[in-house]
Amino acid sequence: MSRSELARHTGLNRSTIRDLVGELGSNGLVAEGRGTTRHGPGRPSSVATPRPEGAVVLAAELEVDSMAVATVGLGGHIFDEIRVPTSQVSRSPEDMVSDLAHLGRPLIASLPAGHRLVGVGVGVAGVVRRQDGFVHVAPNLGWSNVPLRGMISEELGLSRVMMANEADLGVLAEHRRGAGRNQRHLIYVAGEVGVGIGVIYDGKPMLGAAGYAGEAGHTMVNPAGRACRCGSVGCWETEVGEEALARHSGVSEGDAREGLVDEIVRRAQAGDARTLAAVGEIGRWLGLGIGNLINTFNPELVVIGGFFDQLYPWLEPAMNAGAQQMALSAPWMTCSIRRSELGADAVLIGAAELVFAEIIADPSALPAAVGSLVGRAAT
Ligand SMILES: [Zn+2]
Repeated sequence: MSRSELARHTGLNRSTIRDLVGELGSNGLVAEGRGTTRHGPGRPSSVATPRPEGAVVLAAELEVDSMAVATVGLGGHIFDEIRVPTSQVSRSPEDMVSDLAHLGRPLIASLPAGHRLVGVGVGVAGVVRRQDGFVHVAPNLGWSNVPLRGMISEELGLSRVMMANEADLGVLAEHRRGAGRNQRHLIYVAGEVGVGIGVIYDGKPMLGAAGYAGEAGHTMVNPAGRACRCGSVGCWETEVGEEALARHSGVSEGDAREGLVDEIVRRAQAGDARTLAAVGEIGRWLGLGIGNLINTFNPELVVIGGFFDQLYPWLEPAMNAGAQQMALSAPWMTCSIRRSELGADAVLIGAAELVFAEIIADPSALPAAVGSLVGRAAT
């Protein structure tokens, strides 16, 4: 944005904007150059843009069946990314942390000179206390009471490590850089092994008292339903998670050539009747749950992510019908449902945003010398 646009968006006066842009510029976070915006006749104004190399985060997503690690620069620019499938067998936190470091170190080492690593951001499929990165429970990973932040910090030799529930990071990313830009009331619904939601309420993340809000996957939708890994019965994710998808479609892990969802997509594209019926059934339950969320939160937008996004073309009709059936007409009329714009990268970008927010709030906390935070990670 130009300085005058920044002044308009923030309500700050021009001299304050000049000082702030100057401070961010001297910290290497922002560059100013001749841009394309033009107000009336005359020279185009100077435009301030984020410098991705000025602040780079090692972002990681710890999923049940995959792990992704990326280097993400300020502004959401992904320099490099690795995603690897992991065993479906429950894996120990120690193994996951070791794998994360194994994947992350080469990415850090490959950053060109002048790129400043500022920290690590991690998304976890579980109930995470943000304050200290303590994972209370991650039912689908089989974890409880894991001091994950300390473990990652020690393994990588990096001090700034921040983490959050993956759906909370998904909604943050879609709000800042994806389908929910300029929206103030937004819900992100992502299908993985379980289902997670993240909520932006009146422009701010809705986290609850300790950061545990949004566990809609463990709200009851079917009292006559199946046992859930959380210990309850009939939770939403028992009707819409990957296990339900496998059950309805008859595709077992043994049949899946690449992975369950890829196989379902392949069969849906081929028009396989049982697969289409299975995806429709998932869509119906997904829609009913979304209708509950629409009634509760009155969002402007619901963004669909995770494997629901991959299956969207086939899910959409039953999902919309279910949501419309459940939602009251007034909140339904003012809400739209849209696919994720960031797709599989949403959680990684959100994990980086978590760290950037801290940097932007206090640029003086940046490491003084480029690479000074890298420590033994680069060795
Ligand atoms: Zn549950």
